[in-house]
Amino acid sequence: MNVLVINCGSSSLKFQLINSDTETVLAKGLCERIGIDGRLTYQPAGGEKTTEDKAMPTHTEAIQFVIDALTDEKRGVVGSLEEIGAVGHRLVHGGEKFASSAVITDEMLKAVEECNDLAPLHNPANLIGVDACKKLMPNTPMVGVFDTAFHQTMPEKAYIYGLPYEYYDKYKVRRYGFHGTSHSFVSKRTAEILGASYDNLKTIVCHLGNGASICAVENGKSVDTSMGLTPLEGLVMGTRSGDIDPAILEFLAKKEDMDITALMNMLNKKSGVQGMSGLSSDFRDLSAGADAGNKRAQTALDVFCYRVAKYVGSYTAAMNGVDAIAFTAGIGENDSYVREQVCKYLGYLGIEIDAEANKARGEEVMISTPDSKVKVLVVPTNEELAIARETVALV
Ligand code: AMP
Repeated sequence: MNVLVINCGSSSLKFQLINSDTETVLAKGLCERIGIDGRLTYQPAGGEKTTEDKAMPTHTEAIQFVIDALTDEKRGVVGSLEEIGAVGHRLVHGGEKFASSAVITDEMLKAVEECNDLAPLHNPANLIGVDACKKLMPNTPMVGVFDTAFHQTMPEKAYIYGLPYEYYDKYKVRRYGFHGTSHSFVSKRTAEILGASYDNLKTIVCHLGNGASICAVENGKSVDTSMGLTPLEGLVMGTRSGDIDPAILEFLAKKEDMDITALMNMLNKKSGVQGMSGLSSDFRDLSAGADAGNKRAQTALDVFCYRVAKYVGSYTAAMNGVDAIAFTAGIGENDSYVREQVCKYLGYLGIEIDAEANKARGEEVMISTPDSKVKVLVVPTNEELAIARETVALV
């Protein structure tokens, strides 16, 4: 079956058409600047990548262009819409209502809408994409795959904040976690690579990209993860602060005369390694900067690696041990310096890294030595494939 995977934001829409039998990508692309002017980037497998300006006042036009490109006589990869068997939508927040992916129905969409308060930027945008797709493909089954669902197995002690309980009762203020599709995919793949039983393995997945989170997966279940009610909690990220003393907000509000919107904008968009270095949120720029003697770039790298190592330590404690650590996403898959620095803190776990193997970029590889007590791996994530698999399983 061919599955169209859609990841829809407020002004952009990423897509991949995946043949679920061969698990290959038939075509992929991106609609950008929806509601502004509009640009479509499209690439069929083995074909040329093209970018064209196209007016996209709403997501409906964007999805129509995607369908047109996929079914185009020359550059298309399917003969007609009928050859697309299902659509898998990435949905950010399923609150406590969704502990797994779900077939999209009117009732299901109502339940997702009820979670909009928890992700006011992301969920409404995701739902616009679903609506547009339903209009243009009314007979195609659709599935919603949630970023939060995998973490619904976290025990209460991991998700309740040290706040008055009434806020959980009234508003469901608790830790949810994100990147669930990736953490699930990578932890499963780690077990496969090790030839171990997924149901009997303690894995820590380090999803280190522009957004970054860590997840403790015990016997196939997420038992803790570093992001919280929102993706702002946890690790220091590209532009997000991660964990800070909440009292800093009051301090800065008074000193800099900032309101809550300005403070949140600063924490989400101007902090992290970008904020610390003043140079870039991209680790390639930070490494080049540090190599050239930029001290703040080096500090940003140091803080990032130290925070990752501390989380790995705390999740080892949470699970009373760890069998495997997997690095994934842009930084985890490509940045050998970060992996090496993080693992340097973990010698007490009996971890030994093979420096040669650790030079790998973007490929599945074991970077620990055969003697290492804990296996350390690079496992490229593939959220689109994971969404396609979930979709096929449900339709
Ligand atoms: P993601 O959010 O998973 O797409 O990751 C994006 C981030 O990965 C970028 O902002 C970079 O910091 C990092 N990244 C991508 N490629 C490399 C590379 N070759 N070396 C180091 N970092 C990289």
